[in-house]
Amino acid sequence: MRMRLFFWNILFLTLMGTAVLWADPAYDFTVVIDAGHGGEDAGAVGRTGLMEKDLNLKVSTMLADTIRAAFPRVQVLQTRTEDVFIPLQRRADFVNKHNADLFICIHTNAAENRAATGAETFILGTDRMEDNLDVAMRENAVMKLEDGFETTYEGFDPNSVDSYIMFELMQNQYMDQSLQFASLVQNQFTSTLHRDDRGVRQAAFWVLLKSACPSVLVEMGFISNRDEELYLASAIGKREITAALFTAFSSFYSKNGKKQ
Ligand SMILES: [Zn+2]
Repeated sequence: MRMRLFFWNILFLTLMGTAVLWADPAYDFTVVIDAGHGGEDAGAVGRTGLMEKDLNLKVSTMLADTIRAAFPRVQVLQTRTEDVFIPLQRRADFVNKHNADLFICIHTNAAENRAATGAETFILGTDRMEDNLDVAMRENAVMKLEDGFETTYEGFDPNSVDSYIMFELMQNQYMDQSLQFASLVQNQFTSTLHRDDRGVRQAAFWVLLKSACPSVLVEMGFISNRDEELYLASAIGKREITAALFTAFSSFYSKNGKKQ
């Protein structure tokens, strides 16, 4: 009798264990990290010849490696790991194909005014959109490097102010979580790194519009400013920015992870 009870107990525990394994996928969260620009598209270029595409890739890869090492249950994907051109729409398609929980686009700013400094984090939105039209136009303009971009981008012209009306009509169901992550990033940049704070802003980025998950576009600093170019070029600068993004990610993941 006792043997039979023992047998049923073992069977029960084995089945339970199997069920737990089935309900326990390797990953409980997927983040896509997007190094802006690449290949023939250098992005902004500093006066020493430092290219935005290279900075973006370096920080993206450092961030990806740091998250992978710290959180084995987070699937960390990158839109590019090399110096290659990837169309904006394909970056968004990649996010959607992998059913991402968070999308982080890494960029570097530039301005005519060489005194402009500071870090800013964008979410998709139309609040004071006209104030941020120049940065949206610059980042969206890359689509013009593609053959047949008029078709791929549904007639959207990145250089035409009128084209941006389509953003007024969108619904952004990921606004709250995007804002949550953007605020965490910006808080790290300012409180921990003491960078000049340009704040969390809203702008009309195609790559964010077409990605179906919480998403941000980080402008790490101004490559057009002498001091910031030196900071971004330095190993310590890249390490600090990576650490700030990682801390923001850790907070976001602790609040929003474990989706099953
Ligand atoms: Zn950029």
